[in-house]
Amino acid sequence: MWTVKKMLALHVLLCGVLLLEAAPAQESSVAIDADFPGGNIVVDSIEGDVVKLRPDLRDTQGDWFYFAFRVKGAQGRTVRFVFDHDNRIGARGPAVSRDGGLNWKFLSSEPGFNSRQFSFQFGPEDEEVRFATSFVYTQAHWDRFLAKQPDLRASVLCKSRKGRDVELLRLGNAEARFGCFVSARHHCCEMMANFVIEGILEEVLSDGDDGAWLRENVSFFIVPFVDKDGVEDGDQGKNRRPHDHNRDYHQAIYPEVRAIKTQLPEAMEGKEYIFLDIHCPWLRGGKYNEALYSPGPESPKMIAALKKFCDLLEVRQQGAIIPYKESNNLPYGQGWNTASNYQGAADAPIQMASKTWAAGQPNCVLGITFEVPYANAEGAVVDDVSCRELGRNMAKCFRRFLTAP
Ligand SMILES: [Zn+2]
Repeated sequence: MWTVKKMLALHVLLCGVLLLEAAPAQESSVAIDADFPGGNIVVDSIEGDVVKLRPDLRDTQGDWFYFAFRVKGAQGRTVRFVFDHDNRIGARGPAVSRDGGLNWKFLSSEPGFNSRQFSFQFGPEDEEVRFATSFVYTQAHWDRFLAKQPDLRASVLCKSRKGRDVELLRLGNAEARFGCFVSARHHCCEMMANFVIEGILEEVLSDGDDGAWLRENVSFFIVPFVDKDGVEDGDQGKNRRPHDHNRDYHQAIYPEVRAIKTQLPEAMEGKEYIFLDIHCPWLRGGKYNEALYSPGPESPKMIAALKKFCDLLEVRQQGAIIPYKESNNLPYGQGWNTASNYQGAADAPIQMASKTWAAGQPNCVLGITFEVPYANAEGAVVDDVSCRELGRNMAKCFRRFLTAP
């Protein structure tokens, strides 16, 4: 027989069960932040399973697209992330890391991903997942790479404006006839360039013929993060006001650019040297954002040198993951690669790029930049593996370029 007391007890028990079942859903609130090296996001709203967000542009002149954020508390849910407009997400969707930003993978294995929004199904174990424009690469990644190469020890180029050490890596033979400067992150959001540098170093340190030759005959000067503060702070960097690091080689308002302009000529004195500055293009689409290419230089000497190097690279990249042809290059005077791209404000009309400065150095035999896409190169995936392979092939071409008649 049901007494009031028994019914009350059952009611409490049932409610308890219901409360217990309901509790995890109520406690699970999605939290989003960018409070880690390279982090960047503005969250406009979180309503149910829909998050509205946009990149934090900070001191960027105009628009750009870099983002990197962390999601916690979304286990077991499918969340939709919607950006403020199109062309926010790269060709293969966001890069995703489930291990605190160490390793990354694109959400989609195919290019042509929606450029404004994506959904993500968080598994029961996904307590923390990071999403970014592409594979975030900061000082921690560089340190991890160096730790695997006991022969390498980075020194310091200079202090950044915010007091950080700006890494400089010297290797090879300081007394050698040839030199090679390699840099990345003049535009701090362009992270795929760093995997190419890792590949170059792997080849230089390798047991093969080319590695041995490069170590013996070339003195390397490598700056992996020219805009070090921007890399760690997660800035866009491109079109930073009043001008970015790769428009600074005339005025030299940034300590890193001043240091390169002073220290590189000293280190390369008496050597014929290559100057290779690696970038990423715009986010996606069009002929020049989803293909590997070099924006051509202005001087006839460098136009000829670039063609010589690129013909070598075209041969080397045959059968490699990232396709490349010399005809991919964007000659000076075409597309965005014109004089007006380097026109500054009235108070600073000359905005010189690094490769233009290098081309003016008498013993620089090749002063070039390469644009490595964020995710997709003519249908091939641009990731840590394919970029390292490209870097190894570039290093092999350094040898052939320097020794060819
Ligand atoms: Zn760039």
